[in-house]
Amino acid sequence: MIKLNGVCKTYDKTEHLALSDIDICISKGEFVFIVGKSGAGKSTFMKLILKELEPSTGEIHVDDQDITKIKRRHIPFYRRKLGIVFQDFRLLSDKTVYENIAFAMEIVETSTAVIKESVPNALKLVGLSHRAHYFPDQLSGGEQQRVAIARAIINNPYLIICDEPTGNLDPKTSIGIMNLLKDINAKGTTVIMATHDKDIVDLMQMRVIALHGGKIVSDKKGGYHSED
Ligand code: ADP
Ligand code: ADP
Repeated sequence: MIKLNGVCKTYDKTEHLALSDIDICISKGEFVFIVGKSGAGKSTFMKLILKELEPSTGEIHVDDQDITKIKRRHIPFYRRKLGIVFQDFRLLSDKTVYENIAFAMEIVETSTAVIKESVPNALKLVGLSHRAHYFPDQLSGGEQQRVAIARAIINNPYLIICDEPTGNLDPKTSIGIMNLLKDINAKGTTVIMATHDKDIVDLMQMRVIALHGGKIVSDKKGGYHSED
């Protein structure tokens, strides 16, 4: 479970609250969209979960752990629970598809035998077995995002955080990516996705938390435009 209690965030001791009195509870296995226009607080929310930022007040629990209390040297271990998918894919351009995914396992010291078994399975899951030895710049945007998703799930994270994952993709490709995330979610992994993509949010009919001016203005299942 992911739980925020009374979370506020101000940057640089300014008066302005990037997030204000946020209380959220996300159960294991949920799929949650975070929506709101630019400046609403979406990135701040994601960075708090990633422990790239500390809240000014409040508590943040992820998988029954108060992450505000994690010591700096333990942050890398906490982050192993998280898979992250970005708008701009962020693959290593000098490594092949296979190597990009394998590398995510190497840095958490997975044995070679397990890597050799896991990477082909992940590639199969995202439908890219035939691209294992391609480099990122030889792939379409949708294929690159599939590699990024394979990399995000390869260490069996507790949670996948997606920051505008369809932002660089055409609508048809975006739907393919969403179906992949839906399949991964259906196997039990919690997904939190920040997006501006109203069509995708309407299509998926999942829980939508809308932020405006750092506050939650709506939290319910359904489309982006659901009225209160
Ligand atoms: P203003 O932009 O003038 O402050 P509002 O207070 O009506 O106007 O806020 C509108 C904004 O709040 C929308 O652009 C959107 O980002 C967000 N918002 C409010 N309610 C919802 C909702 N149910 N779903 C998604 N976003 C919402
Ligand atoms: P979103 O991701 O929804 O566009 P952000 O979380 O980036 O929103 O921003 C929320 C608020 O915090 C905005 O008013 C923004 O100007 C402010 N903000 C974001 N990052 C910083 C920063 N590094 N320093 C000061 N203010 C910031």
